[in-house]
Amino acid sequence: MGYTEFNDDLPARIKEQADIVQVIGECVELKQAGVRFLGLCPFHNEKTPSFSVHPGQQFFHCFGCGASGDVFEFQMKYHNLDFPTAMRALARRYQVEIPERPQSPREREKNRRRKAMYAVNEKAVSIFRKTLLNSSQAEGARQYLEERQIPAEIQERFGLGYAPSPDAAGWNFLGAQLSKDEQQVAIEAGLLVKKEKGGTYDRFRDRVLFPLYDRRGRVIGFGGRIIGDGQPKYMNSPESLVFSKSASLLGLYQQGDEIRRRKQAILVEGNFDLVSLVVHGCPNVVAPLGTALTIQQLKLLKGFAEECVLLFDGDAAGVKAAMRSVPLFLSEQMAGKVALLPTGHDPDTFIREKGLAALNILLEEAMPLPEFTLKQLVEEHGLTLDGKRRIIRELQPLLKAAASGIQRSLILSHFSETIGVSAEELGASMAPVPSVPPGPPIIESQPARFAEQLTPLSSSQKRLVTHMVLYPGSLSELKEAGLRTCLSGTIGEVLLLQLLALLERAETVEPEELLDKLPPGGERVLVSNILLSSSSESAALYCQGTEGELTEIIVYLECETLKRRIKELKGILSDQSAPRSVEDQQKLGVEMVELINRLEVQQKKYTPFPL
Ligand SMILES: [Zn+2]
Repeated sequence: MGYTEFNDDLPARIKEQADIVQVIGECVELKQAGVRFLGLCPFHNEKTPSFSVHPGQQFFHCFGCGASGDVFEFQMKYHNLDFPTAMRALARRYQVEIPERPQSPREREKNRRRKAMYAVNEKAVSIFRKTLLNSSQAEGARQYLEERQIPAEIQERFGLGYAPSPDAAGWNFLGAQLSKDEQQVAIEAGLLVKKEKGGTYDRFRDRVLFPLYDRRGRVIGFGGRIIGDGQPKYMNSPESLVFSKSASLLGLYQQGDEIRRRKQAILVEGNFDLVSLVVHGCPNVVAPLGTALTIQQLKLLKGFAEECVLLFDGDAAGVKAAMRSVPLFLSEQMAGKVALLPTGHDPDTFIREKGLAALNILLEEAMPLPEFTLKQLVEEHGLTLDGKRRIIRELQPLLKAAASGIQRSLILSHFSETIGVSAEELGASMAPVPSVPPGPPIIESQPARFAEQLTPLSSSQKRLVTHMVLYPGSLSELKEAGLRTCLSGTIGEVLLLQLLALLERAETVEPEELLDKLPPGGERVLVSNILLSSSSESAALYCQGTEGELTEIIVYLECETLKRRIKELKGILSDQSAPRSVEDQQKLGVEMVELINRLEVQQKKYTPFPL
């Protein structure tokens, strides 16, 4: 089956089943007004409703900001999804069956292992949860949670559990409750540790456990806090096929909706800080898993919030952590703020002692990150000539991370005022600024193309790029057919050049390897988005990697090339000012007719890309 067949048909079938009023009504409060429904627009700030949903025509429209579209458009815009993901989500919800994408044996095996890991993690959650609730071995854990004032419903919300201590339950508490196959999976998932002489023992012992969920609510790992004085105090699952610490945030699954509603995320350091804030009425919180904030985590948050407030301890470590995150915020172009707690407090103790109102004041007074950084530097070095020199030196990495020239000059002018140096002088004292955040580039990024100069991808281009990433094997054929011209001036072209360079060095490239091999920057984001939206057991709607699909794409590319040539010729022919013999004129005319004929033949072979 050609992908166009079901792709044309599938969105229509989903749209038929999906109830746009129901879907939007879950995110926006709607009131019926005649044949349509009205509400406050979720895409711009307004006090009187100008956002309308039309069930008959199945579309929404905002008279305030002009946002409009169908149910897919709404899902994509509101939940920050790409088209295939939005489509899959709606298909799942309205029980429209999606044909499976044919997978390579390696992909199938990986998916099988992933599924098995989710299942075993899920089982572990229920075992640990039951233990916490009912077992006499969990007396201490229950008391600990009570002392921390975490009520039962919040424990339930976060799925808290308890892994008993070996003194009470032996060293193979979890393993003993799993089948042989499950034990094997549990080793891979990091729940059990394999003993050298055979057998397994529990990784998590005498710990309160926080299950870590991905955005779809699957359990990808655990974070554990020891009861009592043992070490380490916090312990997470090791990295696995389903769990990457630097790309996960505790609380995002449970609190994501609140974060979206408030357009703001508050980042705290500890698991219990997070839970404690939720308990006391501050719901838009997440916590990184004992690491400094990473770029992947920030990217995750960007899908939910416009702004992130770092709520850190006021000690030197907190200040340094906040300053270190400045480049991340700049390169992601996300607004970051810092709120420092009074010395001796963490978010948990602060909210318990001072209450929500005091916390809200602290959050309202949070300082934008660049400003905060400068203030810290001025405090540290002073504004003597020497101090200024030191400050300028410390500002360098920050400026290097600025995502655009505009951002850079904004920072420069902002800082120059405080330091009392002109922006030009300040700028001139800095080293030249590279176009991408620093990192270990394996291949040279294309320095001539800054992200801001690239044209956004059209939907056909997106499809081409998706195919290119998922099936790098067909790259040379696509290139022959004119892929580069079709992607000209977009990030797709940059990516194509890098893929070709990669393929020159190695015979094959697996999609999963791309992330490691690409230099940091927009291309990597693009690839990770494509991989994220296609790496699941459900089908990638865009791409199936079948022969038929490849042929269709090639025909498409050839048609595009022909169209371009025809357009060029038309331009030449209509240019009367050019001196040209009658013979030449005729030649061009004949070529034109030939091209048009070829285009017609080619066009009969393919159905245009949907979207
Ligand atoms: Zn609007």
